[in-house]
Amino acid sequence: MQSVSEEKFRQEITRFCHLIYEKCYVASTDGNVSVRLPDGNIMCTPTICNKGFVKPEDMVIIDSKGKRVKGERKASSEMAMHLLIYEMRPDANAVVHAHPACATAYAAAGIPLNKALISEVVLALGCIPLAEYGTPGTPELTDQLRPFVKSYDALLMANHGVVTSGANLEDAFNRMDTVEHFAKISIYTKILGRERLLSSEDVEKLWVQRQKYYGLDESEAQPKDPMCPVTDGLSETISLTRSELIDLIERVVSTLK
Ligand SMILES: [Zn+2]
Repeated sequence: MQSVSEEKFRQEITRFCHLIYEKCYVASTDGNVSVRLPDGNIMCTPTICNKGFVKPEDMVIIDSKGKRVKGERKASSEMAMHLLIYEMRPDANAVVHAHPACATAYAAAGIPLNKALISEVVLALGCIPLAEYGTPGTPELTDQLRPFVKSYDALLMANHGVVTSGANLEDAFNRMDTVEHFAKISIYTKILGRERLLSSEDVEKLWVQRQKYYGLDESEAQPKDPMCPVTDGLSETISLTRSELIDLIERVVSTLK
């Protein structure tokens, strides 16, 4: 016998699976989606299924240890990652894992999305750190994620993809959407050849707003990573006018005389 709420969650996961497929956040059988049910069990997508065609009846229910409780098919092989998030984050009731192209490019390049470039991203996520590589479906992967789960709602997984969590499925999906959009903007700034980061004062003000907006206490709202002007000495771009450049060259030449 299936409860009304169970059917509602089956429909909801299906809807968001179709959405992440339509938005090209996954290809082929990539990715997995889950929700925490009111009884504490987890409903998730089955292993080896295309998210564009998955149906409500395909969903699997597992307990908090990963043991199958209900369903014809096997749960996704990456459920350990979801279970880790549910265990460490009592506030999370949904997890989305996908491989959106731009954010996954950052993950493959080994670059975190941790720069204070866009005010709304700072407000929504703070930043998106990069967890080091671990073989999918093994404890290696969860071990790499563990240090970040408590403090971040969205993570890049090196050479793999992205995982986001939220109070509900829409929340977790929105975070995936924000990460991919931000990755795209970050790539465009590379094409333009210039990044102008928010100052630490600007970020400080955003953290005060974030605190009010999400009703967080001060410790929860503080930045967990350096996000403001990160100077690695290699990637910084400066711009000068023609006359400033001539003036600079003339001054250098005059010191050599
Ligand atoms: Zn994956």
